[in-house]
Amino acid sequence: MNTSEYKRFLRFCSKNIDNSNLELFNVDDIVHSIFDQVEKLKGQAQRVREKFLNNIVDNLLLFEKNCLSNNLNINWCLSSEDFLENLLNLLGRKKIKSVNLSSSEFFEQLDLKNSLKSDKISTFSKDNRCFILEADLGIVDSASFFSVFESEFEMELFLDSKIKIIILPINKFICNISDIDIFTHIFSIYKNNKSFPSLTNIFTPKQIGNQEEVYVFVVDNEQSNLLSFKEQRKALLCIDCGACKRVCPVYQTIKDEPYNNSLTGPIANILLPFIENFDNHKHLTYNCLLCGNCTSICPVNISIPDLIIENRKYFFENKILDHNDNILILSLRKFFLRNKNKNLKPWLKRYLLRRIIPKITRKQLQIPQFAKKTFNKIQQDNNKG
Ligand code: SF4
Repeated sequence: MNTSEYKRFLRFCSKNIDNSNLELFNVDDIVHSIFDQVEKLKGQAQRVREKFLNNIVDNLLLFEKNCLSNNLNINWCLSSEDFLENLLNLLGRKKIKSVNLSSSEFFEQLDLKNSLKSDKISTFSKDNRCFILEADLGIVDSASFFSVFESEFEMELFLDSKIKIIILPINKFICNISDIDIFTHIFSIYKNNKSFPSLTNIFTPKQIGNQEEVYVFVVDNEQSNLLSFKEQRKALLCIDCGACKRVCPVYQTIKDEPYNNSLTGPIANILLPFIENFDNHKHLTYNCLLCGNCTSICPVNISIPDLIIENRKYFFENKILDHNDNILILSLRKFFLRNKNKNLKPWLKRYLLRRIIPKITRKQLQIPQFAKKTFNKIQQDNNKG
């Protein structure tokens, strides 16, 4: 889908894009009933995640060292293909024909279920020999794993299984186990909408019994593509709580379909063009009204609208947008940067834009109201005064 087609689709949806159909998500009531200073909590969570991300390479190497010294097997996988090949080899070596799987969006991205199926490995195991889990967070200093389970049954299955395979994307870590406490609360409030942490488990190497084997897979799957982007890399702070999806008026209207991916919602608008490809995902940069609902709720303070603007800027500067969109933006920029146009009367600016835009785009767009005085004019008046 090109960006113009996508914008037409959004306009078609636009009658519903308001706040009236948002799910009632009273996270604020819950969080305020537990924490006096919610902003302080979010700031702390953000800093903990930044501490890992800002030094990701050294932290991952330290995690590997700690895993090895605790007899955990660790595998690094660059792509989903690498991961599937390594995992299927391991299951083949261990003669495993059935596994239990935790539910996970990341497994869908990696196409895990289909690959197991085509290797004739059942995803329901009666003998409970092997469990494949996507942990919610890895903890560097203690080679531990934090997970929120869907049910007590699922948690018991994992703890009882003889072969535990733990999967983590490269960005889902924190440095110190002493910081896990705030995340147990954050996951229960923002992911499960509950005021008390339940069904959470911190799995440490001390818990590994004599008969047990633990294999850890750390999977990049193109996430590291974002690391070289100063702003967009902040999207990797995301802990996948899903809270922003529930308050986003656009996502609540369009739902999953336009993403054509298992990763969806506001954060996917930033990530997908970089971890998949630009051509099929550049339209997602228009999935945002810049209303800021997502930023106000995000427990790790990711400013998604700012990142959307960064993506738009990057796509424009690198000619990734469709030709017509690039021409439109260039023309508008040229028009507004011309000195003589700066101080035109507001009504005249609107009139001119109404005439220019349809000529370029062959469609009528909504034109914003302009301020009565520009900064330039205010400055000129002040200088005279
Ligand atoms: S970006 Fe969305 S899913 Fe990620 S942590 Fe923030 S609110 Fe949760």
